[in-house]
Amino acid sequence: MVAKIIDGKSLAERFEEDIKREVRELKERHKVVPLLTAIQVGENPSSAMYVKNQRKSCEEVGIDYQLHQLPETTSEEELLKFIEKLNRDDKVSGIILEMPLPSHMNARGAQMAITPTKDVEGMNPSNMGMLVYGSPRLAPCTALAAMELLKSTGVDIKGKEVTVVGHSEIVGKPITLFLLSSVMESATPTVCHIATRDLASHTRNAEILIVAVGKAGLIKGDMIKEGAIVIDVGINRVPVRDETGNPVLDNEGKPKMKTVGDVVFEEAVDKASYITPVPGGVGSLTVIMLLRNTLTAYKWQMEKRE
Ligand code: NAP
Repeated sequence: MVAKIIDGKSLAERFEEDIKREVRELKERHKVVPLLTAIQVGENPSSAMYVKNQRKSCEEVGIDYQLHQLPETTSEEELLKFIEKLNRDDKVSGIILEMPLPSHMNARGAQMAITPTKDVEGMNPSNMGMLVYGSPRLAPCTALAAMELLKSTGVDIKGKEVTVVGHSEIVGKPITLFLLSSVMESATPTVCHIATRDLASHTRNAEILIVAVGKAGLIKGDMIKEGAIVIDVGINRVPVRDETGNPVLDNEGKPKMKTVGDVVFEEAVDKASYITPVPGGVGSLTVIMLLRNTLTAYKWQMEKRE
Protein backbone atom coordinates (compact mmCIF):
# COMPACT_ATOMS: atom_id res chain seq x y z
CA MET A 1 0.00 0.00 0.00
CA VAL A 2 1.25 3.49 -0.80
CA ALA A 3 -0.28 6.16 1.42
CA LYS A 4 -2.17 9.18 0.17
CA ILE A 5 -0.43 12.35 1.31
CA ILE A 6 -2.60 14.62 3.43
CA ASP A 7 -1.73 18.00 1.98
CA GLY A 8 -1.61 20.50 4.85
CA LYS A 9 -0.68 23.37 2.54
CA SER A 10 -3.75 23.15 0.32
CA LEU A 11 -6.04 22.65 3.34
CA ALA A 12 -4.41 25.73 4.89
CA GLU A 13 -5.10 27.74 1.71
CA ARG A 14 -8.78 26.78 1.82
CA PHE A 15 -9.13 27.82 5.48
CA GLU A 16 -7.19 31.00 4.75
CA GLU A 17 -9.67 31.96 2.02
CA ASP A 18 -12.60 31.45 4.43
CA ILE A 19 -10.94 33.59 7.12
CA LYS A 20 -10.07 36.31 4.60
CA ARG A 21 -13.69 36.46 3.45
CA GLU A 22 -15.03 36.67 7.01
CA VAL A 23 -12.57 39.44 7.94
CA ARG A 24 -13.56 41.38 4.78
CA GLU A 25 -17.25 41.06 5.70
CA LEU A 26 -16.59 42.27 9.26
CA LYS A 27 -14.73 45.26 7.87
CA GLU A 28 -17.57 46.13 5.48
CA ARG A 29 -20.30 45.67 8.11
CA HIS A 30 -18.69 47.01 11.32
CA LYS A 31 -15.69 49.01 10.00
CA VAL A 32 -13.35 47.01 12.28
CA VAL A 33 -11.00 44.06 11.92
CA PRO A 34 -9.78 41.73 14.71
CA LEU A 35 -6.47 42.61 16.36
CA LEU A 36 -4.02 39.93 17.43
CA THR A 37 -1.44 41.12 19.97
CA ALA A 38 1.73 39.26 20.83
CA ILE A 39 3.89 39.79 23.90
CA GLN A 40 7.56 38.93 23.67
CA VAL A 41 9.73 39.21 26.77
CA GLY A 42 13.45 39.46 26.03
CA GLU A 43 15.15 38.23 22.87
CA ASN A 44 14.87 34.69 21.54
CA PRO A 45 15.68 33.55 17.99
CA SER A 46 12.95 30.88 17.85
CA SER A 47 10.19 33.19 19.10
CA ALA A 48 11.47 35.89 16.69
CA MET A 49 10.76 33.47 13.82
CA TYR A 50 7.25 32.71 15.15
CA VAL A 51 6.52 36.44 15.46
CA LYS A 52 7.59 37.01 11.85
CA ASN A 53 5.33 34.19 10.63
CA GLN A 54 2.40 35.38 12.74
CA ARG A 55 2.67 38.93 11.38
CA LYS A 56 2.88 37.71 7.77
CA SER A 57 -0.07 35.31 8.20
CA CYS A 58 -2.21 38.03 9.80
CA GLU A 59 -1.40 40.45 6.97
CA GLU A 60 -2.43 37.85 4.41
CA VAL A 61 -5.96 37.57 5.82
CA GLY A 62 -6.40 41.22 6.86
CA ILE A 63 -6.17 40.73 10.65
CA ASP A 64 -4.23 43.49 12.45
CA TYR A 65 -1.11 42.38 14.31
CA GLN A 66 0.71 44.18 17.08
CA LEU A 67 3.89 43.07 18.84
CA HIS A 68 4.77 44.33 22.32
CA GLN A 69 8.43 43.73 23.11
CA LEU A 70 9.17 43.90 26.82
CA PRO A 71 12.75 43.92 28.16
CA GLU A 72 14.30 40.74 29.60
CA THR A 73 14.42 42.50 32.99
CA THR A 74 10.58 42.84 33.16
CA SER A 75 9.31 41.45 36.47
CA GLU A 76 6.51 38.89 36.59
CA GLU A 77 4.27 41.44 38.30
CA GLU A 78 4.87 43.95 35.49
CA LEU A 79 4.06 41.30 32.89
CA LEU A 80 0.80 40.38 34.66
CA LYS A 81 -0.18 44.06 34.82
CA PHE A 82 0.57 44.41 31.12
CA ILE A 83 -1.59 41.37 30.29
CA GLU A 84 -4.41 42.83 32.42
CA LYS A 85 -4.20 46.09 30.44
CA LEU A 86 -4.61 44.13 27.17
CA ASN A 87 -7.44 42.07 28.72
CA ARG A 88 -9.36 45.31 29.35
CA ASP A 89 -8.59 46.91 25.97
CA ASP A 90 -11.67 46.51 23.72
CA LYS A 91 -9.54 46.91 20.58
CA VAL A 92 -7.55 43.74 21.41
CA SER A 93 -9.19 40.53 20.12
CA GLY A 94 -6.51 37.98 20.95
CA ILE A 95 -3.35 37.76 23.07
CA ILE A 96 -0.37 35.46 22.48
CA LEU A 97 2.43 35.08 24.95
CA GLU A 98 5.55 34.19 22.96
CA MET A 99 7.52 31.34 24.55
CA PRO A 100 9.99 30.88 26.06
CA LEU A 101 9.64 33.50 28.78
CA PRO A 102 12.75 34.43 30.82
CA SER A 103 13.53 31.87 33.52
CA HIS A 104 12.48 34.19 36.39
CA MET A 105 8.85 34.02 35.19
CA ASN A 106 6.15 31.41 35.75
CA ALA A 107 4.99 30.77 32.18
CA ARG A 108 1.86 28.88 33.17
CA GLY A 109 0.77 31.61 35.60
CA ALA A 110 1.24 34.28 32.93
CA GLN A 111 -0.69 32.22 30.36
CA MET A 112 -3.52 31.77 32.87
CA ALA A 113 -3.71 35.56 33.32
CA ILE A 114 -4.97 35.95 29.73
CA THR A 115 -8.74 36.32 29.87
CA PRO A 116 -10.52 33.24 28.38
CA THR A 117 -12.23 35.24 25.58
CA LYS A 118 -8.82 36.48 24.28
CA ASP A 119 -6.94 33.22 24.87
CA VAL A 120 -6.22 32.43 21.19
CA GLU A 121 -3.77 29.68 22.14
CA GLY A 122 -6.52 27.87 24.07
CA MET A 123 -4.30 27.38 27.12
CA ASN A 124 -6.46 29.01 29.81
CA PRO A 125 -7.84 26.38 32.25
CA SER A 126 -11.39 27.50 31.53
CA ASN A 127 -10.95 26.91 27.78
CA MET A 128 -9.27 23.57 28.50
CA GLY A 129 -12.21 22.79 30.78
CA MET A 130 -14.68 23.46 27.94
CA LEU A 131 -12.72 20.93 25.88
CA VAL A 132 -13.14 18.41 28.70
CA TYR A 133 -16.88 19.15 28.65
CA GLY A 134 -16.91 18.45 24.90
CA SER A 135 -17.80 22.00 23.81
CA PRO A 136 -14.52 23.76 23.07
CA ARG A 137 -14.56 27.37 21.93
CA LEU A 138 -10.85 28.30 21.88
CA ALA A 139 -8.51 25.29 21.82
CA PRO A 140 -4.75 24.79 21.28
CA CYS A 141 -3.85 25.51 17.64
CA THR A 142 -1.66 22.46 16.97
CA ALA A 143 -4.30 20.08 18.31
CA LEU A 144 -6.92 21.79 16.13
CA ALA A 145 -4.61 21.48 13.10
CA ALA A 146 -4.03 17.75 13.71
CA MET A 147 -7.79 17.17 14.03
CA GLU A 148 -8.57 19.12 10.83
CA LEU A 149 -6.00 17.06 8.90
CA LEU A 150 -7.52 13.87 10.27
CA LYS A 151 -11.06 15.03 9.37
CA SER A 152 -9.91 15.99 5.85
CA THR A 153 -9.45 12.26 5.04
CA GLY A 154 -13.23 11.83 5.39
CA VAL A 155 -12.65 8.64 7.43
CA ASP A 156 -15.15 8.12 10.27
CA ILE A 157 -13.30 8.13 13.61
CA LYS A 158 -16.21 6.72 15.63
CA GLY A 159 -14.96 3.81 17.74
CA LYS A 160 -11.57 3.70 15.96
CA GLU A 161 -8.45 2.59 17.83
CA VAL A 162 -6.32 5.75 17.98
CA THR A 163 -2.87 5.86 19.54
CA VAL A 164 -1.60 9.30 20.55
CA VAL A 165 2.14 9.34 21.29
CA GLY A 166 3.05 12.29 23.55
CA HIS A 167 0.82 13.85 26.22
CA SER A 168 1.87 17.50 26.46
CA GLU A 169 -0.71 20.11 27.50
CA ILE A 170 -0.37 21.89 24.18
CA VAL A 171 -0.62 18.90 21.79
CA GLY A 172 -1.14 15.31 23.01
CA LYS A 173 -3.67 15.95 25.80
CA PRO A 174 -5.97 18.31 23.84
CA ILE A 175 -5.87 15.93 20.84
CA THR A 176 -6.99 13.12 23.13
CA LEU A 177 -9.82 15.26 24.49
CA PHE A 178 -10.90 16.16 20.94
CA LEU A 179 -10.99 12.46 20.07
CA LEU A 180 -13.40 11.95 22.99
CA SER A 181 -15.29 15.21 22.64
CA SER A 182 -18.46 13.93 21.05
CA VAL A 183 -20.39 10.91 22.26
CA MET A 184 -21.54 10.30 18.69
CA GLU A 185 -18.07 10.48 17.13
CA SER A 186 -15.85 9.25 19.95
CA ALA A 187 -12.75 7.34 19.04
CA THR A 188 -11.01 4.92 21.41
CA PRO A 189 -7.76 6.70 22.27
CA THR A 190 -4.71 5.18 23.92
CA VAL A 191 -2.14 7.71 25.10
CA CYS A 192 1.57 6.82 25.19
CA HIS A 193 4.37 8.74 26.89
CA ILE A 194 7.88 8.35 28.19
CA ALA A 195 6.84 5.70 30.75
CA THR A 196 4.94 3.55 28.22
CA ARG A 197 6.49 0.07 28.43
CA ASP A 198 5.95 -1.26 24.92
CA LEU A 199 5.33 1.65 22.57
CA ALA A 200 5.33 -0.50 19.42
CA SER A 201 2.53 -2.74 20.70
CA HIS A 202 0.29 0.34 21.00
CA THR A 203 1.30 1.95 17.70
CA ARG A 204 0.82 -1.38 15.82
CA ASN A 205 -2.72 -1.61 17.18
CA ALA A 206 -3.63 1.89 15.95
CA GLU A 207 -6.01 2.45 13.05
CA ILE A 208 -5.11 6.12 13.52
CA LEU A 209 -1.67 7.05 14.83
CA ILE A 210 -0.93 10.60 16.01
CA VAL A 211 2.66 11.30 17.05
CA ALA A 212 3.73 14.44 18.93
CA VAL A 213 7.02 13.83 20.70
CA GLY A 214 9.93 15.67 19.08
CA LYS A 215 12.22 12.68 18.40
CA ALA A 216 13.25 12.07 14.80
CA GLY A 217 13.01 8.39 13.79
CA LEU A 218 10.90 7.37 16.83
CA ILE A 219 8.21 5.64 14.75
CA LYS A 220 9.55 3.18 12.19
CA GLY A 221 7.61 1.44 9.43
CA ASP A 222 7.32 -1.85 11.34
CA MET A 223 5.56 -0.01 14.19
CA ILE A 224 2.66 0.98 11.95
CA LYS A 225 -0.47 -1.07 11.24
CA GLU A 226 -1.14 -1.73 7.54
CA GLY A 227 -3.66 0.87 6.30
CA ALA A 228 -3.40 3.20 9.33
CA ILE A 229 -3.83 6.96 9.12
CA VAL A 230 -0.64 8.64 10.36
CA ILE A 231 -0.60 12.24 11.62
CA ASP A 232 2.96 13.34 12.38
CA VAL A 233 3.07 16.46 14.54
CA GLY A 234 6.81 16.30 15.36
CA ILE A 235 9.23 18.90 14.04
CA ASN A 236 12.92 18.03 14.23
CA ARG A 237 16.01 19.52 12.59
CA VAL A 238 18.47 16.78 11.52
CA PRO A 239 21.61 16.75 9.35
CA VAL A 240 21.25 15.76 5.68
CA ARG A 241 23.30 12.57 5.01
CA ASP A 242 24.74 11.11 1.80
CA GLU A 243 24.37 7.43 0.70
CA THR A 244 27.27 6.42 2.95
CA GLY A 245 25.70 8.05 6.00
CA ASN A 246 28.09 10.98 6.23
CA PRO A 247 26.71 14.49 6.85
CA VAL A 248 26.46 16.69 3.73
CA LEU A 249 28.20 20.05 4.23
CA ASP A 250 27.13 23.46 2.91
CA ASN A 251 29.44 26.05 1.23
CA GLU A 252 30.67 27.22 4.65
CA GLY A 253 31.56 23.67 5.72
CA LYS A 254 28.64 23.43 8.15
CA PRO A 255 26.32 20.37 8.11
CA LYS A 256 23.26 20.91 5.90
CA MET A 257 20.08 20.54 7.93
CA LYS A 258 16.53 19.47 7.05
CA THR A 259 13.21 19.29 8.88
CA VAL A 260 11.66 15.89 9.58
CA GLY A 261 8.86 14.58 11.80
CA ASP A 262 8.89 11.82 14.43
CA VAL A 263 7.84 9.17 11.89
CA VAL A 264 10.28 7.64 9.38
CA PHE A 265 8.30 8.89 6.39
CA GLU A 266 9.95 6.69 3.71
CA GLU A 267 9.01 3.54 5.65
CA ALA A 268 5.59 4.70 6.86
CA VAL A 269 4.41 5.71 3.40
CA ASP A 270 4.40 2.02 2.33
CA LYS A 271 2.26 0.96 5.30
CA ALA A 272 -0.21 3.78 5.93
CA SER A 273 -3.39 4.62 3.99
CA TYR A 274 -2.96 8.36 4.65
CA ILE A 275 0.03 10.27 6.02
CA THR A 276 0.95 13.88 6.77
CA PRO A 277 4.34 15.01 5.44
CA VAL A 278 6.83 17.08 7.46
CA PRO A 279 7.16 19.84 6.41
CA GLY A 280 3.85 20.52 4.68
CA GLY A 281 1.51 18.81 7.17
CA VAL A 282 0.43 19.90 10.65
CA GLY A 283 2.85 22.86 10.73
CA SER A 284 1.24 24.41 7.64
CA LEU A 285 -2.12 24.50 9.34
CA THR A 286 -1.16 25.53 12.90
CA VAL A 287 -0.79 29.26 12.24
CA ILE A 288 -4.08 29.23 10.27
CA MET A 289 -5.77 27.80 13.38
CA LEU A 290 -4.33 30.76 15.33
CA LEU A 291 -6.02 33.12 12.84
CA ARG A 292 -9.27 31.19 13.09
CA ASN A 293 -9.07 31.36 16.89
CA THR A 294 -8.54 35.14 16.66
CA LEU A 295 -11.72 35.44 14.63
CA THR A 296 -13.58 33.19 17.10
CA ALA A 297 -12.26 35.30 20.00
CA TYR A 298 -13.42 38.50 18.28
CA LYS A 299 -16.96 37.11 17.80
CA TRP A 300 -17.08 35.81 21.38
CA GLN A 301 -16.23 39.28 22.73
CA MET A 302 -18.88 40.86 20.46
CA GLU A 303 -21.51 38.46 21.88
CA LYS A 304 -20.51 39.41 25.45
CA ARG A 305 -20.85 43.13 24.67
CA GLU A 306 -24.31 42.78 23.10
P1 NAP B 1 6.82 18.25 24.68
O1 NAP B 1 6.10 19.20 25.56
O2 NAP B 1 8.28 18.07 24.82
O3 NAP B 1 6.10 16.83 24.85
C1 NAP B 1 6.64 15.67 24.29
C2 NAP B 1 5.84 14.50 24.74
O4 NAP B 1 6.43 13.30 24.22
C3 NAP B 1 5.81 14.33 26.26
O5 NAP B 1 4.48 14.04 26.63
C4 NAP B 1 6.72 13.15 26.53
O6 NAP B 1 6.31 12.36 27.60
C5 NAP B 1 6.56 12.34 25.26
N1 NAP B 1 7.70 11.48 24.98
C6 NAP B 1 9.02 11.79 25.04
N2 NAP B 1 9.78 10.75 24.66
C7 NAP B 1 8.92 9.74 24.37
C8 NAP B 1 9.08 8.41 23.94
N3 NAP B 1 10.29 7.90 23.72
N4 NAP B 1 7.98 7.67 23.74
C9 NAP B 1 6.75 8.16 23.94
N5 NAP B 1 6.51 9.43 24.34
C10 NAP B 1 7.59 10.21 24.57
O7 NAP B 1 6.58 18.60 23.14
P2 NAP B 1 5.30 19.25 22.41
O8 NAP B 1 5.27 20.71 22.64
O9 NAP B 1 4.09 18.44 22.69
O10 NAP B 1 5.73 19.00 20.90
C11 NAP B 1 5.90 17.69 20.39
C12 NAP B 1 6.47 17.79 18.98
O11 NAP B 1 5.54 18.51 18.18
C13 NAP B 1 7.78 18.58 18.87
O12 NAP B 1 8.57 18.03 17.85
C14 NAP B 1 7.35 19.97 18.47
O13 NAP B 1 8.34 20.65 17.75
C15 NAP B 1 6.18 19.62 17.59
N6 NAP B 1 5.21 20.69 17.46
C16 NAP B 1 4.76 20.93 16.23
C17 NAP B 1 3.85 21.94 16.01
C18 NAP B 1 3.35 22.16 14.63
O14 NAP B 1 2.77 23.19 14.36
N7 NAP B 1 3.52 21.19 13.73
C19 NAP B 1 3.41 22.72 17.09
C20 NAP B 1 3.85 22.40 18.39
C21 NAP B 1 4.76 21.39 18.56
P3 NAP B 1 6.68 12.75 29.12
O15 NAP B 1 6.02 14.08 29.39
O16 NAP B 1 6.07 11.64 29.91
O17 NAP B 1 8.17 12.84 29.19
